[in-house]
Amino acid sequence: MNKIEHIGIAVSNLEESNRLFAMLLGTPHYKIEEVESEGVRTSFFEVGGVKIELLEATRPDSPIAKFIEKKGEGIHHLAFAVDDVQKSIAVQEENGFAMINKVPKDGADNKSIAFLHPKTTNGVLVEMCQEKLA
Ligand code: ZN
Repeated sequence: MNKIEHIGIAVSNLEESNRLFAMLLGTPHYKIEEVESEGVRTSFFEVGGVKIELLEATRPDSPIAKFIEKKGEGIHHLAFAVDDVQKSIAVQEENGFAMINKVPKDGADNKSIAFLHPKTTNGVLVEMCQEKLA
């Protein structure tokens, strides 16, 4: 794993939270992106080289909708930058971690991503992400 690339935060209302986090961080979000396959709309902030990704569900069966239903709004996942997400999946499986995604999938922000299952990471949902080549 390289650095923490971003911290994902589940929110109920993206517009309201964009205002809130702009005030909190002292900088506005720099983009909004919808990931249709995941049923989420995301916005991104950057402070000190680390991004904050706000996630709002776009439909009731979205993983974010389910998360908020169960736990309420709040920190949803930690994302670490990796050089090769496919290779990192193999390494972490060999380490005994349970993967949610054994095959990388497209995430927001031009990333190829894979999630580890929180049951083997002390309840923390961990994302590994790799910048997709242009
Ligand atoms: Zn993420």
